[in-house]
Amino acid sequence: MTKGDVIYEGKAKVMYATDSPDKVLVYFKDDATAGNGEKHGVIQDKGIINNKISEYFFKLLKTNGINSHFVEVVSDREMLVKKLNMIALEVVVRNVAAGSLAKRLGLEEGTALKVPVLEYFYKSDELGDPMLNRYHIMAVDIASLQELDEIEHIAFCVNTIMKDNLRAKNVDLIDFKLEFGRDEKGKIILADEISPDNCRFWDMSTHEKLDKDRFRHDMGGVEEAYKEMLTRLTM
Ligand code: ADP
Ligand code: UDP
Repeated sequence: MTKGDVIYEGKAKVMYATDSPDKVLVYFKDDATAGNGEKHGVIQDKGIINNKISEYFFKLLKTNGINSHFVEVVSDREMLVKKLNMIALEVVVRNVAAGSLAKRLGLEEGTALKVPVLEYFYKSDELGDPMLNRYHIMAVDIASLQELDEIEHIAFCVNTIMKDNLRAKNVDLIDFKLEFGRDEKGKIILADEISPDNCRFWDMSTHEKLDKDRFRHDMGGVEEAYKEMLTRLTM
């Protein structure tokens, strides 16, 4: 596999073309941002850890019948994935109130939700990722009703599979964000990454945060938390 030109450089990853037109190489950086890019920093070795954790979850999902863009890991910081036409949505699933939901509904962080909540945000840095509902998404043609049904079905399956797996590692899955794309046939495929950058993981016994919230809120022990998650998943 030959690494080609940079197709896109984002906040956390760089996408490279490859000699295969339907595959891209994802390079995981150590850069971390929060608050729509207002806070910027570096989390030592985050790229290596997020590459490994994403590999772990994509493989776990595959074993449980959920396909993703994941093809293979090719180095410490790189994975080969299927090239998709990305849908400009952040799909958030929540089991426990935290972050923006706790604020919006005036709930104490850690309040269990009676049913999992699914939310959509428009992936647009200029607009500050506003929240959308199904009607907005269909009205401006971001995705069709049928596609949203498929996205929600996959997102809730991912939630169940990850929650069950993490329970055995004494980790509570509080919430997470997924992204989806369309393959050459228009099929909806799970994409991007699944890591402490886009999930909230709490130790089940102590409620210690093992994710990017430690960076967002200057709590210290950021690198240690990412390492701890990798250890729990793979040891
Ligand atoms: P951001 O764009 O939010 O700064 P990243 O730094 O994580 O994000 O950059 C990765 C980019 O690659 C994102 O825009 C994401 O939507 C996109 N992406 C993820 N998976 C794929 C894929 N399989 N094919 C094409 N693009 C992808
Ligand atoms: N999230 C993400 N990218 C974003 C916004 C949120 O990966 O741009 C993830 C975040 O890590 C959390 C979930 O989505 O697991 C819900 O985030 P929330 O809306 O509470 O965002 P906050 O405003 O607290 O970042």
